[in-house]
Formats: sequence, structure tokens, C-alpha cells
Amino acid sequence: MGSMLPFGRTQVTASEYRQLINEDKIVGHLESKGISKPEERVTAFIETIPDLLDWLEENGRDYPWRYTTDPWRVYVTEILLQRTRADAVADIYESFFTTFPDPQTLVSAGEQTIFEEVRSLGFGNQRTRSLRDTARLCIEEYDGTVPDDLEALQEPWRVGPYSARACLLFAFDTPVALVDSNIARIFERVFDYEMPEQPHKSDAVYGFIGTFIPDDPALARAINFSFLDLGAMLCTTDPQCPSCPLNECCAFAQRTSSD
Ligand code: SF4
Repeated sequence: MGSMLPFGRTQVTASEYRQLINEDKIVGHLESKGISKPEERVTAFIETIPDLLDWLEENGRDYPWRYTTDPWRVYVTEILLQRTRADAVADIYESFFTTFPDPQTLVSAGEQTIFEEVRSLGFGNQRTRSLRDTARLCIEEYDGTVPDDLEALQEPWRVGPYSARACLLFAFDTPVALVDSNIARIFERVFDYEMPEQPHKSDAVYGFIGTFIPDDPALARAINFSFLDLGAMLCTTDPQCPSCPLNECCAFAQRTSSD
């Protein structure tokens, strides 16, 4: 798939990747957390990046929203994905964006119309409120467009840092890190990194995971997708370590395989 959507750039050597990140910063961060052998761990992790991206290319999930960079679709899809199954969003995706192709159509629609479109996802009232707020923000403050600003993207009701960052990454080609509980769990296990209770609200965690995101938007897209899909498919509450591309560099896997 090369540098084309949906996964982005999935071909990189370990040494190319190394040039695009700040390895010393990662090592320093792990050291500051009292984690042993940080250089070794980081080197091992960097060396698995090509395998991780191969795994993504083979196994990454296929969703309709991964084929677009349209900011309205990307931003709104993140709101639809909150607290529901991705497959449920895939089921309504085409119908939703046919009905609401832009902020104006959504703002002009009655609450009941929006509610009916999203009711199958659950939390219909809250979702309707967030969606209306989002469309209003775009129209009233950004001339009908989606803002490409981390703070502004979090202004609508119940739209948080994850959705805002996903919008920057997938719509505006900004190489930022996504952090949700699945992604946090991967880093917790691979590096024996103690996560706070709400990692997606922690600047320290964004700082740490952000150091793994290369300054190359297409590669940043692929790396984030690989963490997202690995966290959803393999590194779950019942981790499938023998099938995982991070197996060789993962502290948790090493520990459990030698038990
Ligand atoms: S090896 Fe196991 S614990 Fe480590 S990242 Fe993969 S699935 Fe998670």
C-alpha cells in the first residue's frame, strides 16, 4: 500500500525510523521513571517497528472512515466512535454522512432526526448534543470548516483529547500521538511503564508516547494505526503474545513466556 491511504507509510527500516524520532528523549524518560535497561529496551523496540508495520499491512482493520481525510467526516466519526463498537459505526456511516454531509446540514436538522441516525450506537441524547455542538462550533467560529487546532477541537460538549488528536492526525496530517486505554496498555506492558488511572488525560503520557511518533505524517499515521489495531486485536485483556509483532521486545511477554 506504500504511502497511500488507508494505513499510510508502512515501509520503513529501523534506521530510518530512528532518524525520525528522538531516541535519547525516550531513554531519558524511561530512566526518569526508574525503568531498568532503558537503552536496550528502546533499541529492541525500534528494531521491531518494521515488523509491526508489516503486521498492520496484513492485519489492520478496514473501516470506511480510514479512506477519507475530509475533516468533517474524520472529526464527526470520532464522536460517533465514542463509547460504542466500531462495527456499529460502520453500519451507519454511509447513511449518516449522506444525511449530514457538512456542518450546515446537521445544524439545520431537528434534534430528533439526528437522534434517529445515531440511536443504534447508544447514548443517543448525549451524542446528539455533542454533534450539534460540534457543527455549531464549525459554523459560528470557523466559517463552516473544522478547526485544525487541538484546543478548539475540544470545545464541543464531551469531545476530548483523543478525538481532537485523531482529527489532527487523520484529517490535517499532523504527526501527533493518540492515547486511549488500549494504546496505554501496550506501552505499560512493553516497557513496564506505570500508567496513571486516566492515561488519555495525562500530559506526561502524551509526552512519552509522543516521542515514538515520527515527524513524518504518513508514517505517524501508520504507527498510530498499528498501536490502535494491536491494542484492539492482540494486546487485549487476554493478550495474544505469541502472535504479536512486539513479542521480542515486550517485557510482559518475556516474563510470561519464562513463567
Ligand atoms: S507481546 Fe503481548 S503484552 Fe506485549 S504488546 Fe504484544 S500482545 Fe501485548
